[in-house]
Amino acid sequence: MAKYVYDFIEGNKDMKDLLGGKGANLAEMTNMGLPVPHGFTITTEACLAYLVDGGFPDGLAQEVETHLQHLEQAMGKRLGDQDDPLLVSVRSGAKFSMPGMMDTVLNLGLNEESLEGLARQSEGDRRFAHDAYRRFIQMFGKIVMGVPGDAFEEALDHAKERKFAGAQDTDLDVEDLRRLVGEFLAIYHDHTGSDFPTDPREQLRLSIEAVFKSWNGKRARDYRRQNKISDDLGTAVNVVAMVFGNRGADSGTGVAFTRDPATGEKVPYGDYLENAQGEDVVAGIRNTVRLADLAKLDPVSYGELVQVMGTLEHHYRDMCDIEFTIQQGRLWILQTRIGKRTAFAEWVMAFDMLEEGLIDEDTALLRVDANRLEELFKRMVKPEGATPIAKGLNASPGAASGKVVFSADEAEARAKAGERVVLVRRETTPDDYHGMIAAQGILTSAGGTNSHAAVVARGEGIPAVCGADAIKIDLGSHSFSANGTKVVEGDVVTIDGFTGNVYVGELPLEDSVLEKARSGDGVAREARIWKAFTRLMAHADTRRRMRVRANADTPEQSQNARERGAEGIGLCRTEHMFLGQERVAAVQQMIFAETTEEERAAYDILLPLQRNDFIGIFRAMSGLPVTVRLLDPPLHEFLPNQVDLAVEVAVAESRGESGPDLEEKRRILRKVNELHEANPMLGLRGVRLGIVKPGLYAMQVRAIVEAACAVKKEGGDPQVEIMIPLVATKPELQQMREELEPVAREILEREGVHLDHLEWGTMIELPRAAVTAGEIAEVADFFSFGTNDLTQTAFGFSRDDIGKFVAMYEERKLVPANPFVTVDRPGVGRLMRIASDEGRAANASLHLGICGEHGGDPASVVFCHEVGLDYVSCSPFRVETARLAAGQAVVGSAESASK
Ligand code: PEP
Ligand code: MG
Repeated sequence: MAKYVYDFIEGNKDMKDLLGGKGANLAEMTNMGLPVPHGFTITTEACLAYLVDGGFPDGLAQEVETHLQHLEQAMGKRLGDQDDPLLVSVRSGAKFSMPGMMDTVLNLGLNEESLEGLARQSEGDRRFAHDAYRRFIQMFGKIVMGVPGDAFEEALDHAKERKFAGAQDTDLDVEDLRRLVGEFLAIYHDHTGSDFPTDPREQLRLSIEAVFKSWNGKRARDYRRQNKISDDLGTAVNVVAMVFGNRGADSGTGVAFTRDPATGEKVPYGDYLENAQGEDVVAGIRNTVRLADLAKLDPVSYGELVQVMGTLEHHYRDMCDIEFTIQQGRLWILQTRIGKRTAFAEWVMAFDMLEEGLIDEDTALLRVDANRLEELFKRMVKPEGATPIAKGLNASPGAASGKVVFSADEAEARAKAGERVVLVRRETTPDDYHGMIAAQGILTSAGGTNSHAAVVARGEGIPAVCGADAIKIDLGSHSFSANGTKVVEGDVVTIDGFTGNVYVGELPLEDSVLEKARSGDGVAREARIWKAFTRLMAHADTRRRMRVRANADTPEQSQNARERGAEGIGLCRTEHMFLGQERVAAVQQMIFAETTEEERAAYDILLPLQRNDFIGIFRAMSGLPVTVRLLDPPLHEFLPNQVDLAVEVAVAESRGESGPDLEEKRRILRKVNELHEANPMLGLRGVRLGIVKPGLYAMQVRAIVEAACAVKKEGGDPQVEIMIPLVATKPELQQMREELEPVAREILEREGVHLDHLEWGTMIELPRAAVTAGEIAEVADFFSFGTNDLTQTAFGFSRDDIGKFVAMYEERKLVPANPFVTVDRPGVGRLMRIASDEGRAANASLHLGICGEHGGDPASVVFCHEVGLDYVSCSPFRVETARLAAGQAVVGSAESASK
């Protein structure tokens, strides 16, 4: 029979699948001899079995009982005992940390009798016992039974008001708490229709079930979807002997990081809250002090904590985040995990740990997240004399402007409608998650750097300012005021997550950290990140097998891409060369041409213009390959919109107008109607255009080859790859080559130029092309996967309209991820594999790349590495991301192979 429960001494850190992250690390720390309270973990398998059957699987109840008895023996106390009760906490813990997703129930085991025992046991501290009891009712009611948390919060607020204006929860005495307990029990009864359970074993069973069920709660599902965590993992449940941080001034609780998670600096960092239990810190209910202040409050415990931090960091070889409690001068470690950090900090930490010899270069490379690299390029607020209306903690970096909203639902609704919003809350709770991720920025008036808002914002890369206590929110009037300034819902504010400043209005933004560092403008912090960035990027470059090119259409874009490390252009879309005032007339002349002479005259105008464009690009990319795609979009895209034009003509006619202007409009309308297609994306475009419009591709080839000759003659090194789009059959490509190659040859002969690198190839962007790639490869020098169209045609999803329902598809797991962002491995990915394998089998010198948007998506880059592509091509601003991901793909696969 399956074993469902493990004592902490039975586990270790590698058992995260079974024990969850928290359970595995508690076990590890127990075995390291660190001061961890006794406890046991119920496995994720038990959770999954529960979710399937709707009840405890066979044997679980008995196993829990046995382990509970071990725990009672180890502690020398019994759950629910009248004289000296054992109290436990029940904590969720999935494989991957999901901050605030599921909650913790503390002080479990209390009832009217054990309450007395607890008071006796704690040197007659009745206040403490009653406070523990009211917290237990509150947490159990809210988390296990779904009683609205506000009901308890309001009663607590009233109790504080009754005491005196501005009273804190610590000001409530035994009598106040006794009364509050009565009120809490009544609230519990009102909302659940039953009495609060007094049997501690029933309390435990209900709590375990609630944690199991929370795996499928809305906010857990939302979090998993956003963070691409599988729904099939389940959560473990940890039952841990309670230690108390609310036993007076020599007690407290806190969160510590072994390095600063915001800057990466090697200094202990965190928050501490005196005389409090853990949830007070995370919920941001009272303002905390900095961890460094603990050194003054309790130097012995602080010293011990710093030692534990060092031990853990050395053991895990990474920055650890620790929850601890001090009970009457004695330190207890309640949790550790690898700490979340900002996109800045992860570079600094990886670099520092590498320099310190804590990790090697490959490990350092895997420590930075390619998905977040763009954050280093995030711009910052340029205050230019603007005065902040408030200042809070710099909880998550980056600058954000947007309209103020006060609820997560409003944030989500407005963001869906395309508005930029800043979510303003007193503090956030996990229920706000959907609104937080929809917002440009998050601003809270309470809570510290480890409050829920701060943790989520850092994890998601959303700028946030927390604990700006000058901000007084008035939900009734949908407004807040700060130092005399009133801001109502819909007004624009700017928040600066680097400094914690809050401004009214939209402020200009300035260069990102990397931009500043690169231009030598930065101070120490920028210089440090720059050092880390250059070193680790250099390592990625050494390790990667794939080349990285950019999709660039102009000399400026090419230059920019080259500066960012692009090793060529994987896609130069030539359609923009048909736009612009001076060109429109010639393009229209080409479209309207009725004779070959008229058409040729149009090409004669376009040819020199295009040649100049290509000269600029070949110069910028001298020595590196440039893949130029011949015209791809349908011709009607170069004509006015059909509906607009028809309306203009109809209006003019109804007014009885006449004359050459109207005649011209009618003529264009006739052509637009003639070219009209029901499905233009599947219509006369790509190679089909080249076939029905003889002369068009020839003109482009002429412009490309003449440009290459010109650059070669001036000493440059143009490396030319001519790409024919939307090919479905081998004869399409073959016939195009037969028509176009002589055009190129003739120019080269005429100019007396030899090009070292002139190749002809195609995009693979249709399923038919992918499955007949073996044939097509016989007439191609290269393939480039156009995964935008390949995804569109493989799924039959219109890439222009999918936005309307892709979120629902992701939510309902109808697709593993948005297939236009990350290559759909089983479908589109399989087509790519077939095309690569069969293409290479038919033509050993065929080279392969990708130029769809996926070329800049880290997960897709890893896939391209696995398929064996020679390069990825992406937009210039993602070149670094692709370089990094391509290096990580090599290191990551080496690492997984060695496991
Ligand atoms: C593609 O289809 O993936 C591609 C790169 O071409 P475009 O996006 O221009 O259709
Ligand atoms: Mg395409």
